[in-house]
Amino acid sequence: MDGGTDIKEIYENVMNILEDLTSNAHKLQEQVLEEILKSNAGTEYLSRFFPNGQSDKQSFKTNVPIITYEDIKPYIDRIANGETPSILLAYRITQFIQSTGTSGGQPKLIPMTAESFEKRMYEPLLADLVIKRCFNGSNEGKSLYLYFIKPEMETPSGLVASLYTTFYFKTKSFKTGLAKFCTSPIETILCSDNKQSMFCQLLTGLLQRDEVVRMGSSFASVLPRSIKFLDDYWKELCSNIRTGYLSDWITDAGCRNAMSLILTRPNPEMADLIQQICEDKSWEGIIKKLWPKIKYITSICTGSMSQYIPLLEFYGGGIPLVSPNYSSSEACFGINLKPLSKPFDVSYTFLPNTAYFEFLPVNKDGGGKAQDTRTIDKPVDLVNVKLGQYYEVVVTTLTGLYRYRIGDVLKVTGFYNKSPQFQFVERQNVVLSIDLDKTTEEDLSKAIMKAKLVLEPLGIMLTTYSSYADTSLMPGRYVLFWELKMKGRNDLPKLDAEIMEQCCCIVEESFDFTYKSLRKGGVISALELRVVKHGTFDQLMDFYVSKGASITQYKPPSCLKSKEAVKILNSGMVGKFFSSKTMF
Ligand code: AMP
Repeated sequence: MDGGTDIKEIYENVMNILEDLTSNAHKLQEQVLEEILKSNAGTEYLSRFFPNGQSDKQSFKTNVPIITYEDIKPYIDRIANGETPSILLAYRITQFIQSTGTSGGQPKLIPMTAESFEKRMYEPLLADLVIKRCFNGSNEGKSLYLYFIKPEMETPSGLVASLYTTFYFKTKSFKTGLAKFCTSPIETILCSDNKQSMFCQLLTGLLQRDEVVRMGSSFASVLPRSIKFLDDYWKELCSNIRTGYLSDWITDAGCRNAMSLILTRPNPEMADLIQQICEDKSWEGIIKKLWPKIKYITSICTGSMSQYIPLLEFYGGGIPLVSPNYSSSEACFGINLKPLSKPFDVSYTFLPNTAYFEFLPVNKDGGGKAQDTRTIDKPVDLVNVKLGQYYEVVVTTLTGLYRYRIGDVLKVTGFYNKSPQFQFVERQNVVLSIDLDKTTEEDLSKAIMKAKLVLEPLGIMLTTYSSYADTSLMPGRYVLFWELKMKGRNDLPKLDAEIMEQCCCIVEESFDFTYKSLRKGGVISALELRVVKHGTFDQLMDFYVSKGASITQYKPPSCLKSKEAVKILNSGMVGKFFSSKTMF
């Protein structure tokens, strides 16, 4: 990607491909399903639903049930334990992709074939080119992408399981493609010690600060964590730059080798400059100051990641935040064709050639709650979704998932040619629940966004939040955890009880009719807000990482189910407040 004409031609080709895909959405969806049925209808799993051997689209829709992971898990477990994959799909499985979604505490295992893996790499590439096209000159320079891996595990069958990103970072395509434009040497990305990896990636990012034109991570949660790491380690990073010596505790051989090619000499001028920037009392715009040529930050900022938007805007100092794509371990769904849209307005255009998609209508009642989709309407095809409607996405793939509920709720916001565009709303199963009340991830996020407005004029930032339903006492209550800090630095704000109580009241006021009537009836107690000190949520992430989550694909839990997680957040508590609201 060098000459200006070449890149223009590439962008033109990308747009032509997208025009073609989206204009032929219906045809492509039919072809995808046909191909899946043609190859996989004879498998043990699917053939049960085609007793007459007729496996056309209509029989598929009538006979094949809509399922969740639990329904297909016995088949996947059998394959993981050594049975032939042909019980589920016709192709040879090359690996399992581990999803961050858990099934009984274990990551879900999604079968993957060589061909599907190859195809999957295409979608982020398209998304990346669409973004670059919007930012002049951004095809030049380097990317400070903070990427991490998770160690692989082997199933009894000998098949390896890991995160999609871990496999991807190990491919030749990544090494010879995207990695060449990254500030992080591949060895630092592939280092399985996340701390050493982070230190080296930040160090190489700083050393190449004048070349960095974009920064990013897969999910937004990684970036505030990296800035916190920078805050904890900038003196040591500066000292490495000043002396030209890498800290001794970096013992990973790959990291040391790679760093020796970049950290080649003492550079006191650069160290002084970085030190001066980091010593500034306020870290507002720190990203822009440290990487002055940066044009945008790219990272998924929608859904549960939207809670990081204010913090990233603060550290970014006005640099646009771009959410590139929407995908999961199971399938790729869509990409953001309007990279310049505001982070809260992002929609993803579905790509009709990646899987066969169906959509279960989700009723949103007056309070905006997603009801259980099992009880309602039939699913509709990709091209038949209606503007403004909410749906849960269901996929059928070449890799053995048939009418499989992803669990994400989406809202149709428009169409690009014949392909619908969706806003990510929430994960269907993430709910706070007491008695008849179900407060969803989206309800919670909206309520908290309203309440935190009270804190902003006081220079207080809400950096992260979570919640859980405390039913240890009767009646139970919802407990919120908020990590707060002063806008400039990481100091703990002075907490005014009256204002914090007001926040509790605003949250309760924003909840829906069911919540309010249960509160009024004494079935739910007053909402509690626990403020935790800066860094407490990092400990929560460490906890999940120690349990097998990956930093790269970490999703902060909006509603906690684990007692240990609650204990960790409680240990950082610096104040608790209750809603004084009497419901009528
Ligand atoms: P995983 O299988 O671990 O990659 O997680 C996939 C899940 O991450 C999806 O089902 C969504 O819940 C969430 N996710 C992925 N992409 C996005 C996005 N662009 N916006 C919001 N949530 C997302």
